[in-house]
Amino acid sequence: MRIRRLKLSGFKSFVEPSELRIEPGLTGVVGPNGCGKSNLLEAIRWVMGESSAKSMRGGGMEDVIFAGTANRPPRAFAEVVLSAETAAGADGSREDLEVVRRIERGAGSAYRINGRDARAKDVALVFADAATGAHSPALVSQGRIAAVIAARPAERRLMLEEAAGIAGLHVRRKDAEQKLRATETNLARLEDIMAGLD
Ligand code: ATP
Repeated sequence: MRIRRLKLSGFKSFVEPSELRIEPGLTGVVGPNGCGKSNLLEAIRWVMGESSAKSMRGGGMEDVIFAGTANRPPRAFAEVVLSAETAAGADGSREDLEVVRRIERGAGSAYRINGRDARAKDVALVFADAATGAHSPALVSQGRIAAVIAARPAERRLMLEEAAGIAGLHVRRKDAEQKLRATETNLARLEDIMAGLD
């Protein structure tokens, strides 16, 4: 997957709608301390479905909404739009992907994938299939290198599975197991009912 564009509005220090185009090749973001460089990486993780407020350096998820300054009132919502290109087929064809996450004070988060309402789970699956996501080892935030070195073998295995692009299979397996259990319960009930009819 190749991220092509990031649009932020009311997200942390990005109070005004801002657009960042990521052209092919290496993109560098430079600026003085505290200007919002890490907030950009956090915006990518957030739109990919990050659910831990702590890892967004906040106490609650609403802390990602612009909190206001001495001369600017706080915002009521934050929105991040991520536009990307994903590998679609074995022939090397590519597909456009647009994911939007929006949070409103008191109303929680809502997602859209290619213009349609989506669940957090759908977003997680889209990025897991593209071998990336909010916890992808490709997104290295400050202090993460030390965490990778100190990781336990089981945690390292998860990182390798994400890098290999099979993390989405675990989510699907869990879903399939739940459906199987529900079907087994239904079958058992059906057998009871049929026994009662004899
Ligand atoms: P450094 O080079 O020191 O790592 P940086 O460029 O990565 O800095 P960030 O950590 O991304 O900077 O940005 C921090 C800035 O974002 C701070 O000025 C902080 O006040 C601002 N900020 C974070 N959350 C919010 C929020 N909810 N509302 C307004 N401003 C916020």
